[in-house]
Amino acid sequence: MRIASLGSGSRGNATLVQHRDTTLLIDNGFSLRKFMQRLDRFEIEPDSIDAVLLTHEHGDHSGGVARLCANYSIPLWTAVGTARAVLIAGFDYHRLVAGQAITFGQIEVLPVTVPHDANEPLQFIFHQIDNGKRLGILTDTGHVTRHIVDAFSCLDALLLEFNYDAEMLTSGPYPESLKQRVGGSHGHLSNQQSLEFLRRIDTSSLSCLIAAHISEKNNTTAIVDSLIRQLDEVPAPVVADQEIGFDWISI
Ligand SMILES: [Zn+2]
Ligand SMILES: [Zn+2]
Repeated sequence: MRIASLGSGSRGNATLVQHRDTTLLIDNGFSLRKFMQRLDRFEIEPDSIDAVLLTHEHGDHSGGVARLCANYSIPLWTAVGTARAVLIAGFDYHRLVAGQAITFGQIEVLPVTVPHDANEPLQFIFHQIDNGKRLGILTDTGHVTRHIVDAFSCLDALLLEFNYDAEMLTSGPYPESLKQRVGGSHGHLSNQQSLEFLRRIDTSSLSCLIAAHISEKNNTTAIVDSLIRQLDEVPAPVVADQEIGFDWISI
């Protein structure tokens, strides 16, 4: 199994998970034109994408999903609450239910409920059936629940949100209402929350850590990188950014 990102942050997210001839796209917050430009370097044709898995309806994740799925006849898998919010009438829609795994080729996908200010937000764990490897994706989460700790323990790879530095958010340019939203219990994970999360989960098998959904206004990739490197028990991170994302990482 391998993972790549076309870009990560509040101006658009799209992540690829692939194993053999199965290609899954998690979210697409980019316009069709930008998506095609960004997809180019991965040498994937859009009509070879087997499914789009949509985490929630916020524009940085869903903004480019409708046109992509319609133009290339890609099935859309998402929670019913998210489907209602993005008005997917006419699409090849398949319902995701938290806690109910579904299988694409040799990849089993487990949707996990997270606290975020959307209708029915989900994040995912990917299990490669033929070798047992597990990859988790966790962004757009306001706080860490016991359920999330249990679900995301004992992974081989983890893409984790490091959204904001608390001091930068407080003193930064966002209006007060947006600061409250981002920093609230249904907003995003701060650097400290994500570090605390890494201390709570079992990371003994973790060989790949990707820091993602890093705010360009309230955080820096350098801060995130140096904070994670202070933890002895986790590998040095790959840090995803808005423009490039990151290239294929094999798990
Ligand atoms: Zn987001
Ligand atoms: Zn969101």
